[in-house]
Amino acid sequence: ARTLRIGLIPGDGIGREVIPAGRRILEALPASLGLKFSFIDLDAGFETFKKTGVALPDKTVDTLKKECDGALFGAVSSPTTPTKGYSSPIVALRKRLDLYANVRPVKSVAPTPAFPDPIDLVIVRENTEDLYVKEEKTYDTPNGKVAEAIKRISEHASSRIATMAGEIALRRHRVRNATDGVSGKQATVTITHKSNVLSQTDGLFRQTARTALEQARFRDAGLVIDEQIVDSMVYKLFRQPADYDVIVAPNLYGDILSDGAAALVGSLGLVPSANVGDGFAIGEPCHGSAPDIQGQGIANPIATLRSVALMLEFLEQEEAAAKIYQAVDENLSEGKYLTPDMGGKAKTEEVMEDVLKRM
Ligand code: NAD
Ligand code: MN
Repeated sequence: ARTLRIGLIPGDGIGREVIPAGRRILEALPASLGLKFSFIDLDAGFETFKKTGVALPDKTVDTLKKECDGALFGAVSSPTTPTKGYSSPIVALRKRLDLYANVRPVKSVAPTPAFPDPIDLVIVRENTEDLYVKEEKTYDTPNGKVAEAIKRISEHASSRIATMAGEIALRRHRVRNATDGVSGKQATVTITHKSNVLSQTDGLFRQTARTALEQARFRDAGLVIDEQIVDSMVYKLFRQPADYDVIVAPNLYGDILSDGAAALVGSLGLVPSANVGDGFAIGEPCHGSAPDIQGQGIANPIATLRSVALMLEFLEQEEAAAKIYQAVDENLSEGKYLTPDMGGKAKTEEVMEDVLKRM
C-alpha cells in the first residue's frame, strides 16, 4: 500500500474543528483502495503569532517541503487592528511552495427556483502575478496624491495555469462519463479577460491561454475553448451558472469571481478550494475561522471534506476522491443531518457520523 504523508495545519477558530474531520475522512477510506496515510501536525495562524511572533514558522514550511505529499489548511484569523510583523500565512505558503493555482469548485446541492439546473463548475485562478504582485507606489502631484500599481502578466504563468485548467476539464469529463454513462456536457474551458481594454496584459493572458489549450492532447480529447470578457462573465455566471464547466482567470478576476460564485450555492460551509503547484496540493475550505460559532461544535465540515477530496485529485487519487464526494453528496441530498448554516440542527459530529457511515 502507498502511504501519503499529509501535513495538517488547523490554524485558528473553527479550523481546529474542521481539520480533524478532514483527517477522519482520510482514515475512513476503504482499505481496498490500497492507500495509507500518515499525518504531521503543523502550526500557523494568529494564535501561533501571539505565542511565537511569527504566523508561519519556518518549521511548518520546511516540513511541508521535505516530509509531506500534500496538506490540509483550516483557516486563520487576521488581527482586527494592524499588527506589526503579522502577515497572512496562507498567502506566504502559496508563495514559498509555488502553489501557482487556486482551484475552486462550486457545486449546487439541489435545484432551486432561481437555478433549476445543477451548478457544477470550477474556477481556476492564477495565484502568483497580476495586480497581486503588490508593486504599488504613491506620489504627490499639484492636484493631490496619485497611487499606481503594476499589473504583471507573463507567458509562463498564463500558460501553466491554462494548461492546468485544461487538465482539470478533461479529468472532470472522464469522471462525468464514468458516473453518468454518457454525459451530454462537453469539456470546456472559458478564458476570462478584459483584453478589449487591457490589450497588452489581458491580451497576453488571453492569447497565451488559448495557445496552451490548443495543444494536440487537448484538441484530440475534444476540449472546447471558450472565452468571455470578465464583466459580462459576471452577468452570465449569475444568470446561467449551469452553462459553465471550467473557468480560467488571472489573479484579480479569479479572486472576485470565485468568492461571488460561492454565493450561488448557499453556504460558505460547503465550498472547498485547493492551492496547487507541480506535485503538491493544499486543500483549504474557503471559509474563515468563524469566531461567531467557534467552540460550539456546529461548524459545517463539508467544505473541508470536499477540500480533502480535491487535494486527493491533485495527488492522483481520483478513486479515493470520488468516494468522498459521493458520501458528501448523499449526506446533502438526503438532508437529514445538516448544520445550522444549512438550515439544519445537526452538530459537526452528527454530520461526520452520517458521512462516515456512507463511506
Ligand atoms: P468567515 O468565513 O469566518 O465567516 C463568515 C460567516 O459564515 C460567519 O457567520 C460564519 O459563522 C459562517 N461560516 C463560515 N464557515 C462556516 C462553516 N464551516 N460552518 C458554518 N458556518 C460557517 O468570515 P469572516 O467572519 O469574515 O472572518 C472571520 C475571520 O476569518 C477573520 O479573522 C478573517 O480574516 C478570517 N478569514 C480567513 C480566511 C482564510 O483563512 N482563508 C478566509 C476568510 C476570512
Ligand atoms: Mn478572496
